[in-house]
Amino acid sequence: MYITSDPKDKVYKDLLDLAFSECEQFILVVRQNARQGDIPSETMNNVLKGLSTFLIEKKEQYEWPGTRLWSGRDCFGRQQKPALVYYYRTQDGAKKILLDAANSLYSWLQPNLLEDLSFIKKQKPWLISTSHERQAYFETDDEYEIKKIESIKGLEVKTRESIRKNRPKVIYVNDPLNLECVFCKGNLHEGDIAPERSFVCMGCINNGLAICNVDRRIFDPQKINKDDLRIQDTQTLKIGEFDLLEYINKDFLDRKGGLCSKKCFHLFYLNQCIKHLQTYLNLASDNDETTSEIINEIRNNEVNQYILKNKIKQLETIKLIY
Ligand SMILES: [Zn+2]
Ligand SMILES: [Zn+2]
Repeated sequence: MYITSDPKDKVYKDLLDLAFSECEQFILVVRQNARQGDIPSETMNNVLKGLSTFLIEKKEQYEWPGTRLWSGRDCFGRQQKPALVYYYRTQDGAKKILLDAANSLYSWLQPNLLEDLSFIKKQKPWLISTSHERQAYFETDDEYEIKKIESIKGLEVKTRESIRKNRPKVIYVNDPLNLECVFCKGNLHEGDIAPERSFVCMGCINNGLAICNVDRRIFDPQKINKDDLRIQDTQTLKIGEFDLLEYINKDFLDRKGGLCSKKCFHLFYLNQCIKHLQTYLNLASDNDETTSEIINEIRNNEVNQYILKNKIKQLETIKLIY
């Protein structure tokens, strides 16, 4: 049973009342692969401190209800870190903290707060939420429980079945960001240059119009010559046995769409190569400890840094040909 809009204020409170009366535990999550600027906020630290009396345990996990993280290495060779999952008892004092810290279910997001407030009943997930995706659902077949859920005033829920049946044909038009499709508005045509941050709805994409990611030209992907969207001159940069650009080359092998011409394809390819190498340089120059061998090899050897910088210069020059 899915929740179809973010439970706020009174609805959020009633939902917590029910979840606290049904379940023995709740969880909150902290992801450790912090994006830049994701420093734990004061609010988060206060919540952690306040909830500490209700803590059952804290575990490192790659998986929790509703989410599974990639547990290998990323494209820069860094080992991905597991998330910290906090398990708490559903006691009134804890509920008060959850109510004071947030006024809706999907407000549980880093960096401001912990994430993915979910409830566990008899060792099984009961209410699962994924704040990033703005998604939440109940895992229950118990009719009595379902009645109680449905009796929460203002809580919008749908069964899996009814969602499937009522799925609208153009699904992204009512995007949460309230974007309006440039083609549906009606004043743009093939060959025009679309304004910045234009949005195209699923219906128009299916009708064959797209905006180029490089020059924003409106084009019909059906009319593109597939040979134009193939790398002509594969770029590589080896440090030892490791090719720093292999990841980009693989990514471009099966890249489809979003690029209107041979010129745009190659500019995009070269820009991605430059960006990737620049990221290696940035990662090597900040002094955070890393699990990536290749980043360490760049960090500890000036010759390698020189090779990277040179390659970037060379790529910038090739761009001028197009
Ligand atoms: Zn449209
Ligand atoms: Zn283009």
